[in-house]
Amino acid sequence: MDCIFCKIASGEIPSTRVYEDDLCVAFKDLEPQAPVHILIIPREHIVSAAEITPGNSSIVAHIFEVAAKLAKDNRLKNGWRIVSNVGEDGGQSVKHMHFHLLGGRAMAWPPG
Ligand code: C5P
Repeated sequence: MDCIFCKIASGEIPSTRVYEDDLCVAFKDLEPQAPVHILIIPREHIVSAAEITPGNSSIVAHIFEVAAKLAKDNRLKNGWRIVSNVGEDGGQSVKHMHFHLLGGRAMAWPPG
């Protein structure tokens, strides 16, 4: 499958990894939008959060546990944001579900 995030998860394409386990990989975003900008992806190819079902939803809870750990590791005491873009209107450019962990500055709302 020609998926850039599958290749990052397997190590075929290099990335700056900050965490990995059997289920997910976290790495620094190449175009950071905040002082801390980490992407957390499942190793399994899931297209987007729209593909979450009772059979695979446990990965989302796991990724949120990892996000909380990474936020703590990065001392984001003042808060942080986690977001997953879905589909065209959601602004998703890579068709492998991923969660952006953003922090280190105050976030605006609503997002663009
Ligand atoms: O939510 P969206 O699909 O737009 O996010 C994709 C993210 O993946 C972007 O923030 C982009 O900078 C990042 N990216 C990356 N390394 C790649 C390809 C994309 O960090 N090789």
